[in-house]
Amino acid sequence: MRYDVLVIGSGFGGSVTALRLAEKGYSVGVLEAGRRFADDEFPQTSWRARRFLWAPRLGCYGIQRLTVLRPAVRRSGSGVLVLSGAGVGGGSLVYANTLYEPLPAFYTDPQWRDITDWRDELARHYDQAKRMLGVTTYPLDTGADRAMRAVAERMGVGHTFHPTPVGVHIGRPGERTTTRTSVAPARNAPAACTAARA
Ligand SMILES: Cc1cc2nc3c(=O)[nH]c(=O)nc-3n(C[C@H](O)[C@H](O)[C@H](O)COP(=O)(O)OP(=O)(O)OC[C@H]3O[C@@H](n4cnc5c(N)ncnc54)[C@H](O)[C@@H]3O)c2cc1C
Repeated sequence: MRYDVLVIGSGFGGSVTALRLAEKGYSVGVLEAGRRFADDEFPQTSWRARRFLWAPRLGCYGIQRLTVLRPAVRRSGSGVLVLSGAGVGGGSLVYANTLYEPLPAFYTDPQWRDITDWRDELARHYDQAKRMLGVTTYPLDTGADRAMRAVAERMGVGHTFHPTPVGVHIGRPGERTTTRTSVAPARNAPAACTAARA
């Protein structure tokens, strides 16, 4: 098979790249190491290791990839553990659905502030991503939220506590809908998002 472009990985980056190239008329192939998951194939909890973790050598074909990066010269306490997604959709299968815009310090970082006005440059892209991902503000005040607020207040940073922007349709469990602002297909409304349960 021949393609104009072969995209490796179907996560947020790869899938958007493939879509935009296909829209421009290129023939595009996407190679994905993980499997495709139907709605009812996701593990109910992260304790179901075989369905949650991606570790083919151990017979695990789930959505959570764990990669250990070791330094060339080993020292105790060195190295990095990387969590990422596996499967058609990449990290979007396992991420916590929180979708923030950067704080002002990002736009004015001395490394790139002189190149352009990044806030202005990126605004329409954030708008589009938010619309396509159906970003909304999490409306509930759960026990976890109250605990977080109490800890923040105890640390003297209670004023920074705020409800989270999430790419989740908040509706009644089982209700199917397409958000007015989203072009994504209808999804099942979750009882609570993964992040809220974790
Ligand atoms: C547990 C968790 C929670 C997160 N929560 C949030 C959040 O709330 N908000 C937020 O903004 N971000 C969150 N993130 C981060 C976010 O998921 C990533 O930044 C994002 O997925 C990165 O997109 P990407 O396209 O670069 O890579 P990915 O989405 O990781 O996609 C890469 C894809 O490539 C595939 N692949 C890799 N190697 C190969 C190969 N050799 N051949 C074929 N396919 C390959 C992988 O299987 C994967 O599907 C979270 C991440 C994790 C792990």
